[in-house]
Amino acid sequence: PDVARFRGRFAPSPSGPLHFGSLVAAVGSYLQAKSHGGEWLLRIEDIDTTRVQSGAADHILRTLEQFGLYWDQSETYQTERLPLYQAVFEQLLKQQKIYGCDCSRARIQSLGGVYDGFCQQRFLGRQLIEKPLAWRLIPGEVEHSFTDLVFGKVEIPPAICQEHYSIKRRDGLFAYQLVVVIDDLQQQIGQVIRGADLLDMTTRQQALCALLGQAAPAYGHLPLAVTAPGQKLSKQNHATDISSQPLSQSLQQALNLLGQQVPGELQGAAVSELLSWALANWQLSKVPKTLEVLI
Ligand code: GLU
Repeated sequence: PDVARFRGRFAPSPSGPLHFGSLVAAVGSYLQAKSHGGEWLLRIEDIDTTRVQSGAADHILRTLEQFGLYWDQSETYQTERLPLYQAVFEQLLKQQKIYGCDCSRARIQSLGGVYDGFCQQRFLGRQLIEKPLAWRLIPGEVEHSFTDLVFGKVEIPPAICQEHYSIKRRDGLFAYQLVVVIDDLQQQIGQVIRGADLLDMTTRQQALCALLGQAAPAYGHLPLAVTAPGQKLSKQNHATDISSQPLSQSLQQALNLLGQQVPGELQGAAVSELLSWALANWQLSKVPKTLEVLI
């Protein structure tokens, strides 16, 4: 039972090479799963094909291997799972939980970025729609707080919880918000350990699990590495380019950021040695309860 309870995953989007911020999520989710005897799956979140960079997925796989972060089962690619997503989409359509929306981006911006449900009255249950539409979910009852494995009780802004968010885009691509939940359920993930940038999305993802008739995984969020407040790492931050320094140095930095203080005698040790130390000593309770850590 523990294998399922602690089955974790790392779900990078292949929009570029693995950077330090994603290494933190990889290491944290790996250690949490593996130190409890769980499996650790790798899912390439390439659903947004407009952001996929060619070669990036392979690069991520190779980099994880170099760190000794070996995943269980074969890696999965969201672009190979479209029939699964389509089936859920059709189920939600039949249940009248989703509706088409032709609101412009400008209109939604003018609302402050959170959608107001305008198209529900216009399009819910209508079949004859000519132009391509985005599809929005009526999420039903969404809790305004949840218990995070790292942060404890977390309050989420009600407007985010109640939003009728997009599950299929106007360009026909399924949205992250839909497929991440389908995948976590279908792969029977027990604990989702990921970056704190997704904290606010958690209650809507839990609610979607319920709508699909299944129990949600547990969720835990890790601090984001930032170069300045609110400044996420990107390919432009050369200081955090993990290819420009020894792997062991990046791994040590990731462990320190996660509150797992590497002992002095392991300074400069090889990645394999650091990783076995980390596996034996991992404590989720030591992860800093902060959204961002300046690096
Ligand atoms: N693919 C997402 C990212 O790279 C992570 C999704 C998740 O962990 O839920 O930011």
